Parts: sequence; C-alpha cells; structure tokens
Amino acid sequence: MSGRQSWAWATPPAFGAQAYARLAERLGELVLAGDADTVLVPGEAIVALEAVARELGAGGPRVLNVATSQYGYLFGQWLSEEGATVTTLAPPVPGQPVTAEQVVSALANGYDVVSFVHGEAATGIVNPIDAIVTQARRRGVVSVVDAVASVGAEPLRAGGPTGADIVVLGPQKALAGPAGISAVTIGEAGWKALSRPTRRVATLSSVSLLDIRRDWLDTDHSAIPGTPAPHELWALEAALEAVGAEGVDALVARHRLAATAVRAGVQGLGLRPWADDLAQASGLVTGLLLPEGADRQAVVTLGREHFGADLVAAPAGTDEQLVKIRHTGRQASFEAVLAGLGGLAGALSRLGHPVDAATGLAAAVEVYAS
Ligand SMILES: *Cc1c(COP(=O)(O)O)cnc(C)c1O
Repeated sequence: MSGRQSWAWATPPAFGAQAYARLAERLGELVLAGDADTVLVPGEAIVALEAVARELGAGGPRVLNVATSQYGYLFGQWLSEEGATVTTLAPPVPGQPVTAEQVVSALANGYDVVSFVHGEAATGIVNPIDAIVTQARRRGVVSVVDAVASVGAEPLRAGGPTGADIVVLGPQKALAGPAGISAVTIGEAGWKALSRPTRRVATLSSVSLLDIRRDWLDTDHSAIPGTPAPHELWALEAALEAVGAEGVDALVARHRLAATAVRAGVQGLGLRPWADDLAQASGLVTGLLLPEGADRQAVVTLGREHFGADLVAAPAGTDEQLVKIRHTGRQASFEAVLAGLGGLAGALSRLGHPVDAATGLAAAVEVYAS
C-alpha cells in the first residue's frame, strides 16, 4: 500500500449516527429479533459477553450455566464475581454438546436464568437452542445465548416464542465481518434481568448494557455513544452489505452445505466426525478424531504449511486427537472444503497414517453435486 493510500486507513471518514442506527437494526433483522432491542457494543464479542454477565450477575440470580467450552466457564466466573449463584452444567464428555433432556431435568431445580453457547467454534458442536429456550420460557427462566459462533452459520432466531431473551452476536465469524465490534439483542425479560451493580460509583462503564441503553436507546439517536472505532463501523457496514446481497438464509445454507460435505468427506476418509450427527455439527468448523497414534500437532502443521488446509487443533481439555477443519465465512466454500479434506489426507499419508483420500474427496464432491 502506498503512503498516500495508508492515510485513508489512519483517518477514515466519520461514521454518521443514522448509519450507526441502521447497523444495529440490520443485525437485529438478521436474527429476526422482532420487538427486542439490538445494541452495538464497541469491542470484540468477549466484551459484550462480559457486559451481559456483569449486569446479569449483579441482581444475584440463580443461574444454570451450561459450559461446553471455555467461553461458558468464563461466563459463569463473571456471573459469580458479581453475586450470582451459579450451577455449572457440563456434558459428560468434554467438548460434546449437552442434550435437551439434561438441561430440562436440571431446570427443574429452580433457576432464574439459563446461559449457554449456541454454536461452539472451539469443538464444532451445536447445542439444542430451540429446546432449551422453549423449556426455559415455559418455566419463566430468562435465557441468555452466546451466538457469536452461530449467527450466519446456524438457523438462529432472537425474537418470537423460540427466541432467547438475551443473544450476543459477533460479526467476525460466519458474517465475515470485523472482530472489534459486537452486538446484543435484548428483549423485555432480558432488560429486567440486567441490573446495575450496587457498588458502582462511576457514571460510565465500558461493560454496561444499561449505560448503552441510557446513552443510545433512550436518546434521539443524534449522537453515537462513546467513540467506537470508525474502521469497525465501516467494516461492519461492508460485511452487512455482503450478507444482505447474499441473503442470510443463503449464508446459513452455504455453511450447512460445507459442514455436510466435510462430514461426508471425513467419513469417506475412514475417520470419525466429533459430532454424533449433522444436526449437532457446527457450520463453521468440522471436528474429527485423528487415528490413534497420529501426532496431532504434526498433522495440523503439515496440513497447513504443505497443503494449505485450514486445520486447527481443538483447545486443551477436550479429546487429544480432536482436530477441526475450518469452513468459516468466505471459507464456507467448495475450495476450502476440498483443500481441508485433501490436506488432512495428505498430511496423514505423509506421516504414516494413510486414509482413503479418493473416497473422502468423492463423498464431499457428491454433496455439492447433489
Ligand atoms: C469467538 C467466540 C467468542 C468471542 O469472540 P472474540 O472475538 O474472541 O471476542 C465468544 N463466544 C464464542 C462461542 C466464540 O466462538
């Protein structure tokens, strides 16, 4: 980039308040938020999650916190710090989804809030959102969902009878947007569950949805609250343009198609997908188990560096042979699917664990062909 052009990046044009309002509106429309408010949070999605947890926890609720990855555990820790009584519900096998039955039977113990991650990019699984939210609503329990890794990759509805009360969104995964801004949809019951920490004395917190409501939702929308980076706002607008042009249903379908093809391919290679069935498999990444004895780090490194496959090892605490093929955002494509499967097969072959590459690749092609 020339010196002259780089000035444009250093000082982007200001982003107007009307366009700012439109960003939140469009994000809300993407997830069918209906009557729920959608607010932008100037910070990466983890900041929005902390904002939710801090003000949710401050009211001292009894929370059933489903933890299927580190995000869930962290959310529970923030809640506890603020005064919530948190019960952690984890799946029997770390990294697997919880079942609806597990959550429903736990809910019978009496809670004010249930919180969980919808799609897990860490392990490639999806939790049963509709069943959990419906059952929570039936019991008057407020539902809080981390949908950062599912918006655009899985069917998701933040309003209506199956919509959760608080839904955290991030543009940087399936939506192929910027990582430095996020959003939260909050319905009436959601707002009721948020309260101001009693020990707070400052007039503004950077992790407060109630402050965002005061400084934006409850105003005439003529001034953007705080100083969100204009780069992020322009990038979010561009990402939402692209999503709008493709259509959110088509975007979700493209991720589901990639997940279906990779899953078929993994099985064709003779390997085991991590999710037990396609309905529990993330649209962003496909988890799979390497053959026993295969050196995971070596497979991932060779696959990436020699074959150009987007392979990633799952985080610590889950199965040591668990690897993910990424097909996120623009990478939810035929090319990335084939490169991922082919690179995995190539790396395994070179490391002395040959798999049936022909059958695996043919199975993935067949999914796209049919
Ligand atoms: C990526 C992700 C986040 C946080 O996103 P950051 O960009 O790291 O802030 C939160 N929850 C889930 C489930 C994610 O996949």
